[in-house]
Amino acid sequence: MLSTCLWDKDKILKIIEILNKTYSINFNEFIVKNILDSKYDVHVNYFEILTAIILSQNTSDRSAIKAFNNLKALLKEITPISIATADDNILKNAIRVAGLANRKSRILKELAFVLQHNPLFFKSLEQMDLDEARRKLLELPGVGLKTADVFLLIVLKKPTFPIDTHINRIVKRLGVASASDKYEDIRMKMIGYLDGDINKLVLLHLLLIIHGRKICIARKPRCSQCSVSKLCCKNL
Ligand code: SF4
Repeated sequence: MLSTCLWDKDKILKIIEILNKTYSINFNEFIVKNILDSKYDVHVNYFEILTAIILSQNTSDRSAIKAFNNLKALLKEITPISIATADDNILKNAIRVAGLANRKSRILKELAFVLQHNPLFFKSLEQMDLDEARRKLLELPGVGLKTADVFLLIVLKKPTFPIDTHINRIVKRLGVASASDKYEDIRMKMIGYLDGDINKLVLLHLLLIIHGRKICIARKPRCSQCSVSKLCCKNL
C-alpha cells in the first residue's frame, strides 16, 4: 500500500466529519432505528427488535420494515409466545416481502422456542460485557456476526462495529482494510480507531451504509461525486 494511504484515528474521524456533513441521516431508512425511534420505543421489546434484524438479513431495510409492519399488524405484539403460536403459513405470508420467507419463519419459530424457555435472556445480556453478550447472542438460531453486532451496538449500546456488504466494500476501497481482511479484522480495526466510542461507532456505521447506497455503490462507484475521494486509496 502507498505510504499516503496509511490510516489512523484522525483520518477515520475526518471521514466521519465529511460524511456527516454530506448526508443527513434519515433514521426511518434503518430498520432498528426505525423501531427504536417509533412509538414502540416507549417500551423496548428486545425480542421484537431482534426479529426485525433477522427480517432484514439479505434484503433491504425498506422490505424488512414492510415485513415487520405486516407482522406487527398480524400479531399486535411480537413476542416468543405470539410467534410460537402463529400459524406457519400466515407467518410466512406476512414476512414474504422480505424474502427467504421459509428460512426466516423457521428461524423465528426456533428463536421463539429458545427464548420462551429463557425469559430473562435479554435482561442478562444487558449486564454482560461485550464479548460475553456477543457469545450468548451468537448461540441463538439465525444470529450471525452482523445481526449480533447490530443488536449489541444499536440496541444495547455496547462498543462493537457491525459490517454489512456496503461497509465491507467501502472500507476496502478506502484502504482502511486490506482486501484479505475478514469480518473480525475489520471490526477490531474500527473499534480500535474509534477507541470504542459508541456514538462514533454508530455514526460511522450508518454513514458508511448511506455512502454505499448512494455513491460508493457496488458495480461502479461514483468517485467523481464522492466527498471523501481525497482520502480514498482507490484514487491514489
Ligand atoms: S472515491 Fe470512489 S471508491 Fe473511494 S470511497 Fe469514494 S466512491 Fe468509493
